[in-house]
Amino acid sequence: MSSVRSLLYVAVWVATHLFLATSSLAQSRPRPEDTEVYTPVPKIVEPGNGCTPPSDAVVLFDGKSLAQWVNAGDSSKPAGWVVQHGLMTVNKKAGDIRTKDRFLDYQLHLEWRVPEHITGKGQSRGNSGVFLAIFPQGGYEVQILDSYNNTTYTNGQAGSVYKQYVPLVNPLRPPGEWQVYDIIWNAPRFTPDGKLQQPATVTVLINGVLVQNAVSLKGTTEYIGTPTYKPHGAAPIQLQAHGDPSEPISFRNIWLRPL
Ligand code: MG
Repeated sequence: MSSVRSLLYVAVWVATHLFLATSSLAQSRPRPEDTEVYTPVPKIVEPGNGCTPPSDAVVLFDGKSLAQWVNAGDSSKPAGWVVQHGLMTVNKKAGDIRTKDRFLDYQLHLEWRVPEHITGKGQSRGNSGVFLAIFPQGGYEVQILDSYNNTTYTNGQAGSVYKQYVPLVNPLRPPGEWQVYDIIWNAPRFTPDGKLQQPATVTVLINGVLVQNAVSLKGTTEYIGTPTYKPHGAAPIQLQAHGDPSEPISFRNIWLRPL
């Protein structure tokens, strides 16, 4: 009887420890759900069709009005560029224009076109530019230029971060066709006493082709001299009315998504 009982004890002990061992093994084995998260849930955004803005975009130019823009030299004045047929065209006499609002980090979409029979060469052919942030001491320009069969310094051709980064490739279409810029901008950050904490970075696609891959800016883009950083916060975006004598360029479909 006692040996039967002993056997029973042993069997129960073995079974119990086997169960505990296998269950603890099962608990320590990684499971797919250990690395799955369900919050936060991304907000639903209705996408555009490539040209029309997504549902959460801030529309800066809808083809009808320059209400979001002012004269860059005197922000109390209207922008003064020509709006016609769903486009806005540079008015060189009016000068640069800038957004009424200020922005920090964003995704920006814009389209531009130079006239089909544009004249001039080098920096004097369809020169404009988008300043991703503009403030009294400077700004950061991604170059707009007719760089289709048009030689210039490569860190000043279309899609360059002006005089800092040459575009990776040149995906421009011929004059008379629309060029599409998609830009992801992360503004620089500064400490309270004005020291650079984090440089600005920019990613640029032209006509869907990557030309700047999250490059870190060396400071403001300068025509003469080396870039440096000066502290600033959220800032307007500026479009350049370049003084060259070539026929003026046009823009359409400008929108951004603050990040
Ligand atoms: Mg320019």
